[in-house]
Amino acid sequence: MTKQQQLFDAEAAPWELDEADDRPVATVVLPETPFGPFDYLVPDELLSRLEAGMRVRVPLGRGNRTVQAYCVRITNGRPEASRSHRLKELHAIVDNAPLLTPSMLRLTEWMSEYYLCPWGQVLEAVVPAGVRQQAGTREVTFLSVPTSVAARLTQLKLPRKQAEALRVLAASPRSLTATELARSAQCTAGPIKELQRKGLINSESSRVHRDYDGQPKVEREHQLALNAEQQVALAKILDAINSQEQETVLVFGVTGSGKTEVYIQAIEEVVAFGRQAIVLVPEISLTPQTVARFRSRFDGVAVLHSHLSNVERHAQWREIASGRVQVVVGARSAIFAPTPHLGLIVIDEEHDASFKQDSLPRYHASNVALQRASMEKVPVVLGSATPSLESWRRAQRSEYQLVELEKRILERPLPDVGIIDLRAEYQSRSSRGAISRPLHQAMTTALRDGGHVILLLNRRGFSTSIQCPACGGVVKCPDCDIAMTHHREGEKAVCHYCDHQIVAPPVCPECQFEGIRYGGLGTQRLEAEVRARFSNANVFRMDSDTMQKPGSHEAAFAKLRAGEIDVLIGTQMIAKGLDFPNVTLVGVINADTALHFPDFRASERTFQLVTQVAGRTGRGDRGGHVLVQTLSPEHPAIIAASKHDYRRFAKAELPVREEFGYPPSGKMIRGIVRGESELVTEAFAEKVCELIESSVSDRGLQVRILGPSPAPISKLRGKFRFHFLILGQDIDVLRQVVSAATTKIKSPDDVQWVIDVDPLDML
Ligand code: ADP
Ligand code: ZN
Repeated sequence: MTKQQQLFDAEAAPWELDEADDRPVATVVLPETPFGPFDYLVPDELLSRLEAGMRVRVPLGRGNRTVQAYCVRITNGRPEASRSHRLKELHAIVDNAPLLTPSMLRLTEWMSEYYLCPWGQVLEAVVPAGVRQQAGTREVTFLSVPTSVAARLTQLKLPRKQAEALRVLAASPRSLTATELARSAQCTAGPIKELQRKGLINSESSRVHRDYDGQPKVEREHQLALNAEQQVALAKILDAINSQEQETVLVFGVTGSGKTEVYIQAIEEVVAFGRQAIVLVPEISLTPQTVARFRSRFDGVAVLHSHLSNVERHAQWREIASGRVQVVVGARSAIFAPTPHLGLIVIDEEHDASFKQDSLPRYHASNVALQRASMEKVPVVLGSATPSLESWRRAQRSEYQLVELEKRILERPLPDVGIIDLRAEYQSRSSRGAISRPLHQAMTTALRDGGHVILLLNRRGFSTSIQCPACGGVVKCPDCDIAMTHHREGEKAVCHYCDHQIVAPPVCPECQFEGIRYGGLGTQRLEAEVRARFSNANVFRMDSDTMQKPGSHEAAFAKLRAGEIDVLIGTQMIAKGLDFPNVTLVGVINADTALHFPDFRASERTFQLVTQVAGRTGRGDRGGHVLVQTLSPEHPAIIAASKHDYRRFAKAELPVREEFGYPPSGKMIRGIVRGESELVTEAFAEKVCELIESSVSDRGLQVRILGPSPAPISKLRGKFRFHFLILGQDIDVLRQVVSAATTKIKSPDDVQWVIDVDPLDML
């Protein structure tokens, strides 16, 4: 026995005498500070009901304030860590059943470690509010007659009404609520209360649920006969399903190559064995079209999207947990769906940035999916026409199986893409506006031939800047360091970061000059231009301003399907998933909007966006083509996108990442520090970096620290922002140095900071 161990035991001895050492102990974590974990003794009367995954009420701190916490573990006997002090008893159990299965508990524990986020906070994010609040349920008291009473029913001397009520209840095949009993026995509440008081009736309360609505009836569709490439892809996935090991298949298939049909047939296989599948799609492609496709092929489809009410979400959750749901289709958070026998996870458009959560815990759904899949030994299928370079690299190293769908369905050609050099246009153009002459001509032809046109412009609003030519002042949000955007509707200027709104100024707010200029192009201005140029066309705009109301997506898709829209204008939300055969022209108004962002993924984002939107055309017999307007026609990302050549893009981009150690060549953690005082905030950011630096050099690690520097969005909602990047080869090492440094340090009162592991957002 080591010296330390002896000391430890000696100290532990006194209470061991008066308190049994093998009493069950519950470990709990809290959703807020202090997060725990803390240990509590479980009182005997609660022991039989308590399970890990339930919430409990526990006394906290000196004042023994009662707080709610998640029970994450029950152990027999005191864990080592809590031997040095007396344990309190937990007070009560909150839930009738665990909110999380043991495997989901393990998954959330892993998330807490990987994303450096307290476990309690992860749990609070993973279990939907509607489930925590038991939304849509109510507490109901059910009455029954104990068998001992039933046996001597005829011997009891009772007033007539009470006797009748007791007889009716005893004769009922199931327990009744007081209202039901009063109705059946034709009495008031009085006699029933009296029976309860005399102890002749048992009452037991439980929660009842609103009935699950089931799903809308959709016409059933049959399997399509797969083409050769699809068959190969399906076979690979089925191999993975049958291998009993966790395997990941990357389906790299051009737009319109029939990836979804392959997923569906793989899921049919899984469902045939009584298992469930989770299909993740980006929130904005959770369209009625996608959902209808799954509903036409499976009986039990649960759809988890962000517009669900708490009651609906809770009902869906219960339905999924019951095992009656075969396929869960949803955005990011659907990865936590409580499927009892998971058989397959599919992530469509796996490159999409919406799979990363931008608040704590800042998880990436693909990463969580891989972890969940390896715990439950099920395969993961990732699909994309433009895989993230992270996934591509893993496929290159055979960590993922790669299957490729090179051709579109029915051998339809990919649309040809023309590049319009806006610089040349600018110098020679006679008319001003967003639409160049070649694009105007192509639109005229397409519309004349009865085709439909999609125009992509990734900026909403009317004018994207308001600037005074006299003093040069730009109208900026007072709380963010961001130019405000002019919105025609309501004549207002809006901050796109914090939604601060003011009346659009008719004169310069600084110098009162009357000729203030509204410049820069947003979707509203583009819409006005298209309406002016093509007065006979039906024009429709889709962006987050027009798509705010629930149901507005459905309405827009119904119009598209009915062919009522000639020109669809929109932001990136129109670039994904749309499958309409009559779209014969796609125009990209300005491919450069994201190209020069201070973000190492700017090229990748641009390549993805242009390739995806180009994929919306040429899906029918009539073919289609694409025109891309740009000021950077020689940019490799734009050239590669115009040739639909992902490999070419990856080949050009990967060496750049390699050179700087950026993902996927290296791993990255980003820290963001924000506060009201610029000086204090910066000083704190520097201190954190110094601590990390010294922890790195103490251990002689190969870790680079960049910054701190002002973040590209240097002020947001009234707070100054600084950020720093930690780069290295091994994510575990990076996490260790960051957590070692950050546990030692306490931020000044008005300074907050977050750590983002594997960040996607660099602004
Ligand atoms: P992706 O997801 O790769 O963009 P989709 O799965 O949306 O492609 O398929 C494009 C279109 O081709 C859809 O309308 C789909 O119904 C159709 N399709 C898919 N597979 C087949 C097939 N084997 N035979 C005929 N049509 C198919
Ligand atoms: Zn703002």
